[in-house]
Amino acid sequence: MTTCSAALMRRARAVMPGGVSSPVRAFGGVGGGGSGGDDPFVVARGEGARIWDVDGREYIDYVLSWGPLVLGHAAPAVLDALHDTMARGTSFGIPTELETRLAEAIVQRMPQVEMLRFVSSGTEATMSAVRVARASTGRDAILKFDGCYHGHADGFLVRAGSGVATLGLPNSPGVPAALAELTLVAPYNDIEAAARIARSHEGRLAAIIVEPVVGNAGFIAPDPAFLPALRALADEVGALLIFDEVMTGFRIAPGGAGERFGVTADLTTLGKVIGGGLPAAAYGGRRDLMMLVAPAGPVYQAGTLSGNPLAMAAGLATLRALTPELHDRIARRTARLVGGLRESAARHGVPFTADSAGSMWGFFFRAEPVRNYADALGSDVAAFRRFFHAALARGVYLAPSPFEAAFLSAAHGDAEIETTLDRLDDALGAARS
Ligand code: PLP
Repeated sequence: MTTCSAALMRRARAVMPGGVSSPVRAFGGVGGGGSGGDDPFVVARGEGARIWDVDGREYIDYVLSWGPLVLGHAAPAVLDALHDTMARGTSFGIPTELETRLAEAIVQRMPQVEMLRFVSSGTEATMSAVRVARASTGRDAILKFDGCYHGHADGFLVRAGSGVATLGLPNSPGVPAALAELTLVAPYNDIEAAARIARSHEGRLAAIIVEPVVGNAGFIAPDPAFLPALRALADEVGALLIFDEVMTGFRIAPGGAGERFGVTADLTTLGKVIGGGLPAAAYGGRRDLMMLVAPAGPVYQAGTLSGNPLAMAAGLATLRALTPELHDRIARRTARLVGGLRESAARHGVPFTADSAGSMWGFFFRAEPVRNYADALGSDVAAFRRFFHAALARGVYLAPSPFEAAFLSAAHGDAEIETTLDRLDDALGAARS
């Protein structure tokens, strides 16, 4: 039977590579969708915790546009802000008050971010933060961690986790070797390896960049000593510490990783939640560093749609609604979901590990905890694929890759959590080999 999704994807594939606007959306990592090949379903609409595909199938959504939708789909607060804003025009390329208001809201919640610059994607944010780090230190090399993804700028497509891992591409063709060589890579949670590499490149290292909680190799929490040790290492070798909080920002704590782990980064990159589902991202941090950015300083970085009023309005509405109380409520429900999944897996005798931080969570089909990307790769990927499809068939949409984090929104109430646990318990049973 040909579904509407399959027919639409056939048309899409004729005019867009793989029929998608971003590779992680294809179902290649889970052996294709219902219509075969890499085809995902095509979505028609979303409301609250749920989405509906063009064939009318309903799913409880744990991808949430890959993280931004912390209030859920079509959140009334966001839609109202958008309606009000768009009636006055959609883009000006001239400062608006909305930018200052969102910047103030972020700075207030994240004290380590003293100033920031808005951009339109996480890729731009990380790319620009590294430019500032290189300019301020006069050095070229950066240290990243295996499996961490920091967007698709050339220098970051080295051992870059999820999307790249799902497609089995170790690195991307098209990245000049001379650029890739400037990116050093250490295993996550391995401070000895990071220190060895950093010290052997002393005087060359501009920045250490890290996802404080990894979301792009699946969900991996930092060991308690890891982030403080990275802070000390960066200071020792004279490099800047960049927390890439594009995914963790306003998810793992109301004030992000600085608040959760008590470690202050020099620069922080943000995206996803701060745009409330519209394209907005930012990089920010110490005032002296941000004053290097043009026009205040010499580091050039610009964007036609940066600080777009619609994106600013959606982000502002989202942050306003996301009070510490709401953050905690979502975090509690996330913990309940993760705990329930662990119980299910134990009941079914399935090797399984799951964890969460705030409203970000994830799991692996593996008995032992996952501490780094190599561990993640050692999980049972075939079991994940069976589980993914069993969950989808039961109306639960998980990311179509074993190497992606999942999310929860304010719209996932207790009823949705219990329904999900019932469905996923059934899916776990069905997915047992
Ligand atoms: N950094 C992290 C930690 C991310 O998770 C992502 C995207 O998932 C990015 C950067 C890139 O953001 P964008 O997809 O908006 O370019």
